[in-house]
Amino acid sequence: MKLVFIELLKNLFNKPVTVNFPYETEGLNRPERYRGIHVVDQEKCIGCRRCARECPVEVIEMVPLTPEEKAKRKDKKKFKPVFHLAGCIFCGVCEDVCPVNCINLTNNIPNPTENTSELVVA
Ligand code: SF4
Ligand code: SF4
Repeated sequence: MKLVFIELLKNLFNKPVTVNFPYETEGLNRPERYRGIHVVDQEKCIGCRRCARECPVEVIEMVPLTPEEKAKRKDKKKFKPVFHLAGCIFCGVCEDVCPVNCINLTNNIPNPTENTSELVVA
């Protein structure tokens, strides 16, 4: 009990080690190789589906391109990947297997939300 009291006194005037996430992100000290929100270069993507096939939790959906998107392309790409981050485990497999390196897991942390539609990257 005495030791707990000493610890309590010692920490009473220390700065908190936690931050008020998501309102504060300063001081979160993410490691260099931290994997967060995906950024996808859809221009570069060739729609090969490899990311969707290899995702261990099947959260990558291949959706058809709109007629406008198709008209802008010179290749025959028909589908594009959409990432549902609510179920993503941020393993980085999609980034590793993409043959044209168009997926990048940034070190940005998704904001907590109850609305999973806000956790979609297209
Ligand atoms: S990081 Fe892993 S779990 Fe998340 S979308 Fe990519 S392959 Fe799937
Ligand atoms: S693996 Fe890369 S090129 Fe293939 S569909 Fe996924 S993002 Fe596009």
